[in-house]
Amino acid sequence: MDDPLELVVAEVATVSPSLVRVELTGPDIARYTPLGLSDEAAVLHLPLPDGEPDPSGRWYTIRDVVEGPAGRLAVELVTHDGGVGASWARRARPGDRVVVSTRRGWFRRPADATWQILLGDVAALPAISRIVAETPAGMRTAAVVEVPDPADARELPGADTTWVHRPDQASGSGLPELARDLLADLPDGRGYVYVAGEAAATRAVRRMLRHELGLPPSAYGVIGYWRIDAERWNRRYEQSVDTYQRIWAAAESSGRDDEEVLDIYEARLAEAGLL
Ligand SMILES: Cc1cc2nc3c(=O)[nH]c(=O)nc-3n(C[C@H](O)[C@H](O)[C@H](O)COP(=O)(O)OP(=O)(O)OC[C@H]3O[C@@H](n4cnc5c(N)ncnc54)[C@H](O)[C@@H]3O)c2cc1C
Repeated sequence: MDDPLELVVAEVATVSPSLVRVELTGPDIARYTPLGLSDEAAVLHLPLPDGEPDPSGRWYTIRDVVEGPAGRLAVELVTHDGGVGASWARRARPGDRVVVSTRRGWFRRPADATWQILLGDVAALPAISRIVAETPAGMRTAAVVEVPDPADARELPGADTTWVHRPDQASGSGLPELARDLLADLPDGRGYVYVAGEAAATRAVRRMLRHELGLPPSAYGVIGYWRIDAERWNRRYEQSVDTYQRIWAAAESSGRDDEEVLDIYEARLAEAGLL
């Protein structure tokens, strides 16, 4: 875990029907140093109903860093049904305390890329928005975002964006089908594909990028952000957690690259019906 920052909510605003923006501030902001990755995310320990921080924490994208005398970190939270994070997003108030711990980013577009394709669901919209905002002029950008409500669409200046309306995200993600259309005809030249959203859906897209299109790992970044019916999946995963961890560790220590390790790990999850 990184050195935790103890922050306080300065402002809460509804961005669109499915997203609430929260700005965090406090003296600890002085210790915050950006990672320099456009999809930088942090584990937030949000207040439980009794005010105590959620010990396990949830990942949220640092949407932007608001400059000012004190400085603020802005995050946008999806207000889906259930969940510690989504429930808090609905009741968040200035003065609430939030602990920010581990931070990481995955977006690594090659320096000589001339195009990028961004695909995600509404949980990835904060990351996609920041990536687009930080994209250098001249880069061709196509974005496809699946949102529960048409009014979740927003301006993404410089990106050729398609909004796909899927009212009930918890009953299934259409990212694999969208990817199939979107990736059928890749632009010429060097580019980068970034995909984030529901875990089973993003795993399917990764397999498409790697095994059907044969793209090298440097040409894409794929991140599972959340999981449909996470409680059931977690219960089943926990039953054999030692086995899965052993498979991961063995694959990693055999000198294989990250994508080969994932292939081995996912093959085992598929056998267990856990993809
Ligand atoms: C690197 C990274 C960056 C992320 N950035 C963001 C972000 O900027 N904004 C954001 O809102 N989320 C983001 N997420 C996703 C977020 O961490 C998960 O959605 C998380 O599960 C939310 O926690 P929760 O307490 O609301 O729900 P949980 O307690 O984790 O889950 C409760 C139930 O809600 C369902 N659920 C969880 N997330 C969703 C969803 N998005 N839509 C529909 N149902 C859901 C689960 O399937 C489960 O059944 C990110 C995840 C990662 C890994």
